[in-house]
Amino acid sequence: MMSHSPDSTLHPAVVDTYDRPLKSLRLSVTDRCNLRCRYCMPEAEYVWLPREDVLSLEEMATLAGYFADLGVDKVRLTGGEPLLRRDLPRLVRLLLQDRRITEIALTTNGVLLADQVQELYDAGLQRVTVSLDTLRPERFRQLTGRDEFSRVIEGIESVGKVGFGNLKLDTVAIRGFNDDELIALIEFAKHYQAEVRFIEYMDVGGANEWAMEKVLSRAMILDRLSQHYGPIPALPERGAAPAQRFLLPGGTIFGIIPSTTTPFCAQCDRSRVTADGMWYLCLYATSGTDLRKPLRMGASPERMREIIRSGWAVRRDRGAEERKVLERGGRRDGGLIGIDRLREDPHLEMHVRGG
Ligand code: SAM
Ligand code: SF4
Ligand code: SF4
Repeated sequence: MMSHSPDSTLHPAVVDTYDRPLKSLRLSVTDRCNLRCRYCMPEAEYVWLPREDVLSLEEMATLAGYFADLGVDKVRLTGGEPLLRRDLPRLVRLLLQDRRITEIALTTNGVLLADQVQELYDAGLQRVTVSLDTLRPERFRQLTGRDEFSRVIEGIESVGKVGFGNLKLDTVAIRGFNDDELIALIEFAKHYQAEVRFIEYMDVGGANEWAMEKVLSRAMILDRLSQHYGPIPALPERGAAPAQRFLLPGGTIFGIIPSTTTPFCAQCDRSRVTADGMWYLCLYATSGTDLRKPLRMGASPERMREIIRSGWAVRRDRGAEERKVLERGGRRDGGLIGIDRLREDPHLEMHVRGG
């Protein structure tokens, strides 16, 4: 791994055309997954990234270092299913060698978590988010195509046991599917001192089964919950954090990520690097920048930083807001990417670029 200057003032931080800083990096460590969630990977088979293109852990850490040079301080490991990537704790350790990276988080479906949680904790991982959409094993099987519910629950239980605080449980809220489980999920999370975040169903990548009627909006979620809990005050906003947080009587906190009905593009400081080193400035971006090629051809750190700096400086992406504009014309369903196009370019898939 190349060494990086610990002095970030040597490389002034960069902002995009809307004055949004480059702060948070999502590293998709693999495009493979051991579940087939219907809203993300509804097909049985996919066009996988060629193995030789997939970055080594050292290459990922080197790239992350260039991003840190330009202001990134948070890295989230995602995928596909990140725990399918062998030796993930080593990547955590490599990333933490760079002291400017102050937060490393993981988003996982939880299936393999119980086996790996101790090593990840020991390596210095700070935060864990487990995706959990239902508490009913049969529903879980229908949604994911796999019988892994009990392993996910074991994974969730294991997080607190090794000492992680602030566990988050991310639930894609789907109308007509799990909208009858909102309260049960909040109460389940409370039991594990976790915070649920309800994510509005997004029309992104392989979500070809998406329809506006299936979106359980923030307003609907709050309406249902307040029928049970009474008035639900919002907590003050926290900068670029995507979740709006709410307080229930008794002190329980939950979040809503209203990406579909109330996008937060104006504050978005996130970008994504795929397992094969393509850099995307937005979840909805249809093209990205190849960082693998220059990295493997031995581009200097200055050149790599310049590619990233100049890419971010011209960023105009506001993908979710643009979808809202389509919606006003009644054309939102037309924004979905067809399966043939997804097969031609798997980078357009959510599971490739990381959620
Ligand atoms: N496999 C890991 C997991 O499921 O946590 C990490 C990758 S997954 C793509 C990251 C997050 O994206 C998950 O919480 C998942 O629920 C969410 N996601 C995937 N497709 C989505 C969609 N169409 N709308 C909203 N969230 C989605
Ligand atoms: Fe489900 Fe995550 Fe796998 Fe997508 S990447 S199918 S959301 S577990
Ligand atoms: Fe950021 Fe794009 Fe999501 Fe908007 S749609 S919040 S710009 S990633």
